[in-house]
Amino acid sequence: MSNQKIEIILDVHQCQGYGMCLMSEDIFEIPQGSQVANLKMHFVDIDREDEVKELAGSCPAQAISFRILESA
Ligand code: SF4
Repeated sequence: MSNQKIEIILDVHQCQGYGMCLMSEDIFEIPQGSQVANLKMHFVDIDREDEVKELAGSCPAQAISFRILESA
């Protein structure tokens, strides 16, 4: 049975600290005093694909990307 996961990729050099990604606060945080986001979680379940797509699309700096991983 295949078990897909999504790897979230944050380009910290692109991130401008807009904070749109904080709508998924279990995945992203902006630590106090920081100008850029930090990934709290690098992998999420495939059932959050819509949410991850929305996250990637809503980052004004296009700092968020993702890829789907296939694991047996
Ligand atoms: S939305 Fe994009 S630019 Fe804004 S904090 Fe999140 S990753 Fe950074």
